[in-house]
Amino acid sequence: MKLTNNFLVLTVLLILVGKTSLSQDFKSKYSIILVIDGPRYSETFGDTSCKYIPKMGKELIKEGVYFENFKNNGPTFTVPGHTAIATGDYQRISNSGISLPKKPSIFQYYLKATNGPKTDAFIIASKGKLDVLANTKNKKWRNQYVASTFCGINGSGTGYGGDVTTYSKVMEVLAGNNPPHLMLINLLAVDVYGHANMWNKYLESIKVCDNYTDSLWRTIQSNPILKDQTTLFITNDHGRHLDGKKTGFISHGDNCEGCRHISLLVLGPDVEKGKRIKEEAELIDIGKTISKMMNFEMPTSKGRFLNELFQNRK
Ligand SMILES: [Zn+2]
Ligand SMILES: [Zn+2]
Repeated sequence: MKLTNNFLVLTVLLILVGKTSLSQDFKSKYSIILVIDGPRYSETFGDTSCKYIPKMGKELIKEGVYFENFKNNGPTFTVPGHTAIATGDYQRISNSGISLPKKPSIFQYYLKATNGPKTDAFIIASKGKLDVLANTKNKKWRNQYVASTFCGINGSGTGYGGDVTTYSKVMEVLAGNNPPHLMLINLLAVDVYGHANMWNKYLESIKVCDNYTDSLWRTIQSNPILKDQTTLFITNDHGRHLDGKKTGFISHGDNCEGCRHISLLVLGPDVEKGKRIKEEAELIDIGKTISKMMNFEMPTSKGRFLNELFQNRK
């Protein structure tokens, strides 16, 4: 009799322990990935004065976790960089938007797992070619669970739209009764002025993006649905060449430190405040982290769950 009781107690204990270790509960139910296209680390967080990113570098950084050694370890162009974020794997993919990613994206995994409307996963991008992130070449997944998109000129999936339009679309979508649980945003001005060899406009665009980021975080925190339930990942698709490397800040695309070294700042109800991480993390880790936080699987991602984000972890 006593043995049976002990056995029962032990079984119940084991079930409880198993349950808590498997289902780590996160407060966050919404995830937004904001991609500022192509600033160089030396003009953002790599500049200790943070003069071009005063909001992110001095204020928002105190509210979240900052990865100082964050990398794009794949091709350092726009479509490949965003594909690494969306699929959790690096691949050589055309930067013109003529090919779909090989692997299904986080948006597809999310929509399949939740069986929600396509508006529950939303890609809003200034660059039209980023429309490819919603779909995949993978035969089992192609044309299924395709996210909503508003990319490029008037959301047409072509050309380059302005960041003002992109940002106002983001505001419109977030203000709805059912804001998407998963969103990716791309802002292009920094990259475009870099390619145009307009140094001052390039720097000014970094400042504008800093303001957009601050404003986005305030919008989230003042929205009754999103407040304290949303994690914001602020990152880049790639950097730009270091001075003295090829064309310097004008372009990007190789494996120089300037092109690879980008940044990640994460804000949200579950993440620690004011923590800096020295260990390397990379673009492909974002999807895995979101999928685990939002409780769905992303088996084809090669990234890792960034447990450094959360309390009592390294
Ligand atoms: Zn570029
Ligand atoms: Zn480079």
